[in-house]
Amino acid sequence: MKHVSFTQLMTYVRCPEHFLFRYILGMKRPPGKAQKHGFALHETFAYHFDQKKKDSKGLKVRDAKEFFVEVFRSALQEYEMELEETKSLITREFLAKEKTIDVNQLVATGLRGIDVYFKEMNPTIIPDLVEEPFAIPTPSNVDLVGRMDMTDKKGIIHEMKTTRRMPNAQDINLDQQLAIYQLAYEKLKGKKAKGIAKDYIVFSKRDAKIVQFKVSKPFFDKNAVMRNIASIMNAVKHNVFYCIHPAESWVCSKEWCGFYRLHGELRKAGLAKFMARYMIKRA
Ligand code: SF4
Repeated sequence: MKHVSFTQLMTYVRCPEHFLFRYILGMKRPPGKAQKHGFALHETFAYHFDQKKKDSKGLKVRDAKEFFVEVFRSALQEYEMELEETKSLITREFLAKEKTIDVNQLVATGLRGIDVYFKEMNPTIIPDLVEEPFAIPTPSNVDLVGRMDMTDKKGIIHEMKTTRRMPNAQDINLDQQLAIYQLAYEKLKGKKAKGIAKDYIVFSKRDAKIVQFKVSKPFFDKNAVMRNIASIMNAVKHNVFYCIHPAESWVCSKEWCGFYRLHGELRKAGLAKFMARYMIKRA
């Protein structure tokens, strides 16, 4: 690998097998409606702040909502195509779980999130960098690449998240992505950021609210991040792709893991045979 993103690193941390299927063997993961919803919201705020950077106003809340609905609608068309493309991987249970997810409810939730964000957060932010790409060389001979969601004119890095679970301060203390953003900011702006904020839109059944956690600097330093990247890249180089979850873990279930079938196939064939089979298919 010549470069690695934070998403790829976190995929390895959460599930090395998943990393193997997705990034070594290049397999597509079956899509989820919830991911498409998160994507549509992310695109809406990115577009808004990009506009706001240009004209200092950005979108009106009504236009932002229309934009969100439109992006979500086309993401759901892609969802149908991706379901078709990955159908050989999909279990009955995964499909049944997806069918229980009500798209209208997702739209309503998204609209509530946009309302609350525009009311409470948007007036406080004058954007500076929006979706700015970065590449940081590492001692492991790979570039660490990614995009900053947004930074503001006060020198604060903002990372936006949507969640259904109430976040806590631990989430920011343990987040190595913040250290990566700090490095990226320094590379792009030639100075350290004044602070880093995680801006959550927290959804409940009938409500949405903003929860923000802010720190002046990340808990992890550059050396810790580089050490972790080196460990992961070393493990990848040596084909270390174990399932690390306990047998009863919900993440390793037919409902939730889009790669469940491959997981079984890998168990049966063993890594060497499995890799040979799929490397040939890929070639
Ligand atoms: S079944 Fe478990 S170990 Fe295998 S890819 Fe899915 S989450 Fe990872």
